[in-house]
Amino acid sequence: MDFLQPTTWAEALEAKAAHPDAVAVAGGTDVMVGINFGHLRPSLLMDLTRVEDLQEWSIEDGAVRLGAGVSYARVIAELGTQLPGLAMASRTIGSPQIRNRGTVGGNLATASPAGDAHPALLAADAQVEVASVRGSRRIPVPDFYTGVKRNAMDADELITAVLVVPPSGPQQYSKIGTRNAMVISVAAFGLALHPDRRAVGTGIGSAAPTPRRAPAAEQFLADELTGTGLWESRAELPAATAGRFGELVADAASPIDDVRGSARYRLHALSVMACRALTWAWADYRTDTGKEV
Ligand SMILES: Cc1cc2nc3c(=O)[nH]c(=O)nc-3n(C[C@H](O)[C@H](O)[C@H](O)COP(=O)(O)OP(=O)(O)OC[C@H]3O[C@@H](n4cnc5c(N)ncnc54)[C@H](O)[C@@H]3O)c2cc1C
Repeated sequence: MDFLQPTTWAEALEAKAAHPDAVAVAGGTDVMVGINFGHLRPSLLMDLTRVEDLQEWSIEDGAVRLGAGVSYARVIAELGTQLPGLAMASRTIGSPQIRNRGTVGGNLATASPAGDAHPALLAADAQVEVASVRGSRRIPVPDFYTGVKRNAMDADELITAVLVVPPSGPQQYSKIGTRNAMVISVAAFGLALHPDRRAVGTGIGSAAPTPRRAPAAEQFLADELTGTGLWESRAELPAATAGRFGELVADAASPIDDVRGSARYRLHALSVMACRALTWAWADYRTDTGKEV
């Protein structure tokens, strides 16, 4: 197995153009598992950890530009205010060791339906920036997932960053697994309220071939909050609204039975998680009266 170690982004892109089969390594928490179990036998590995551009985050045109190589530990420590949903999701990932190594870029490229970053990125309307020697492009995150562990990148492309606009309202993340740590989710749900544009964002994990949104649930809740004047009044949310929202989220899923859980359980779990996440987010919204919307 050969090993490349570019130190600049330009070098990395040139290497990927010359060797489209090269397997990138960021934290290695997916790649090394694949190699250790014999599922992955790359002839060429490309370590991206020395490319500084990938290890940083910044604010660009009002959005957080999160370098693909930023670890979950740093998202939690440094971006809890700007990216609360992603930080919540990051806290549920693996163990401290995995959170120190694992990156959002790696989670995206693996594109597992169970990846924990995805529901939070979907709810927050994130964009994935990918690049090659041919140039760069931004992909809205729902379009990035093209199948089970498949993504929209071309063979010569790498992920540069994820762009996420900091929220104007509360965000929540909820995950069900067999225990609280070191577990792949049985089902997961991310929620973002966007009061500035009277919109709602959702993300479903582990309950469809790809991470996906629940558009009917988003539209229902946005219409309810607008039609009843709740965005402005911040009055109590009717329990029936939260319950219906949960049902519509579950309707958007298409889970399978597998070793982690049955399809029926996943649907039930999703409706409960969505209802609870909305209740928590609404409680946050009601107390956060400092923000004019
Ligand atoms: C014990 C354990 C527990 C785990 N728990 C969880 C969990 O709770 N939730 C969860 O979601 N995941 C979990 N994972 C999976 C893993 O940690 C995550 O998917 C993590 O985000 C992968 O990031 P990484 O940087 O380690 O990726 P790597 O292993 O380095 O790479 C993963 C994939 O991304 C590609 N890649 C990396 N960077 C780039 C880039 N810049 N451009 C293009 N492609 C790139 C690689 O080629 C590879 O295909 C766990 C893994 C282990 C071993």
